[in-house]
Amino acid sequence: MHTQVGIIGAGPAGLLLGQMLHVKGIDSVILESRNQDYVIDRVRAGVLEQSTADFMDAMGVGDRLHREGMRHEDVYVSFGGRRHLIPLAELTGGKAIYVYGQNEVVKDLMNARLATGRPLHYEVSDVSVHDINTDQPRIRYRHNGSDQELICDFIAGCDGFHGICRPALASALGDAAKFYDRTYPCGWLGILADAPPSSDALVYTYHERGFALYSMRSQKITRLYFQVPPDEDIRDWSDEAIWEEMLARMTTVDGWKPNVGPILNKNVTAMRSFVAEPMNAGRLFLAGDAAHIVPPTGAKGLNLAAADVLLLGRAFAQFYRESKTDLLARYSCEALKRVWKAQRFSWWMTQTLHKFPGENPFDYQRQLADLDYIVGSKAAMTSLAENYVGLPIDVAF
Ligand SMILES: Cc1cc2nc3c(=O)[nH]c(=O)nc-3n(C[C@H](O)[C@H](O)[C@H](O)COP(=O)(O)OP(=O)(O)OC[C@H]3O[C@@H](n4cnc5c(N)ncnc54)[C@H](O)[C@@H]3O)c2cc1C
Repeated sequence: MHTQVGIIGAGPAGLLLGQMLHVKGIDSVILESRNQDYVIDRVRAGVLEQSTADFMDAMGVGDRLHREGMRHEDVYVSFGGRRHLIPLAELTGGKAIYVYGQNEVVKDLMNARLATGRPLHYEVSDVSVHDINTDQPRIRYRHNGSDQELICDFIAGCDGFHGICRPALASALGDAAKFYDRTYPCGWLGILADAPPSSDALVYTYHERGFALYSMRSQKITRLYFQVPPDEDIRDWSDEAIWEEMLARMTTVDGWKPNVGPILNKNVTAMRSFVAEPMNAGRLFLAGDAAHIVPPTGAKGLNLAAADVLLLGRAFAQFYRESKTDLLARYSCEALKRVWKAQRFSWWMTQTLHKFPGENPFDYQRQLADLDYIVGSKAAMTSLAENYVGLPIDVAF
């Protein structure tokens, strides 16, 4: 079998790349190790930047996002028992964020893929990449009980943080590959609750008991988090204890608090920053979590994956349209510029809004002063707003 671009992974990065290549008239085969329901059911991101929403529109997959997603023009920062409004759209010339679950993004992209008739194989195993330094790289895998080989012009490694593509890049590049890593001494306990939102905007809370985040997935479902130690066992948290902690951290002096309802899903996620550099080796190109992850505080992971895809898809399009390779050669460098800015913002949000072990009352007061400065200064608020809605991508769709 031969294809132009072999895509490993059918998460947001792989599916969006497949869609963009289709729009540009380029062939691809997508290989995914899990089954379709597993990929859809994973509860993960829920905040899309303006440019991610614009990208989905341009790729013809934004209709349901606008029908069922929620456009938010503001966000709250809460501390000292008070919520402070950050008017995102007013500060950024009309840009906003969209609350639309990753599950829905993935579902829309899977349906779009199905409509193209182009291949997307689920439940493949034993995936490996070969000959990435030649102009005919190959992917070997097992599917439906038989061994397969896919000869490609290029391979896109969109297989997430635990995939096989980054290790393949590392062994191809040896010492030329650099990996930057930071783990945080905390995780997030997250719940999905059958409770209608009590706020029309997300609420980022810094409380003396630690960080908490109020968000939502729909008009009926809320998604809430609070900071816990990274190795916290979710089985130690009854639903009653979770609500007690949520309410203790989130309730404000004016009486605002989340609506309480049955918990549909609960888990603990560790937090990490990671960057692989460069993001390509020969004809293997990484995109999304395969190349970088951010702590979820800045809501950047899925959006960075989309930004990578935009740059990579454009580079493939240039190659097939004009037989030029300069955009492919610049892909890693261009993508990493945005990745590092998102890393900086995600790290800053994390260290400003969380309590870390070993910190003392000085640190707590310093963090409160930081937050007080943000809500009291238009310049500081604008900086937060422009990062939160997403820095501009200087690429036409
Ligand atoms: C709890 C949580 C909350 C988050 N909240 C946010 C948020 O609010 N906003 C935000 O922007 N981001 C958020 N993120 C991050 C976001 O979910 C990820 O950044 C996003 O999923 C990255 O997409 P991806 O396609 O690069 O990787 P993934 O979604 O990980 O997709 C990779 C795919 O590759 C498949 N795969 C792996 N190995 C192989 C293999 N060997 N062969 C074939 N297929 C393979 C996997 O099964 C998977 O389907 C959150 C993440 C978590 C865990």
